[in-house]
Amino acid sequence: MAVKHTPTGEVHKGTKNGQTGCGFDTKKNSEHWVSSHDRITCQKNGCNN
Ligand SMILES: [Zn+2]
Repeated sequence: MAVKHTPTGEVHKGTKNGQTGCGFDTKKNSEHWVSSHDRITCQKNGCNN
């Protein structure tokens, strides 16, 4: 499952109302996060593996 951060367009591993692989809390500013089936573009540890 992937989640997109709409202000940056970056796609992370993770889910809405949870946490990304790289540690962002998607419950904060939850309007910035949408569920996505796009390819993960985040290169940080935890998302890019
Ligand atoms: Zn990430």
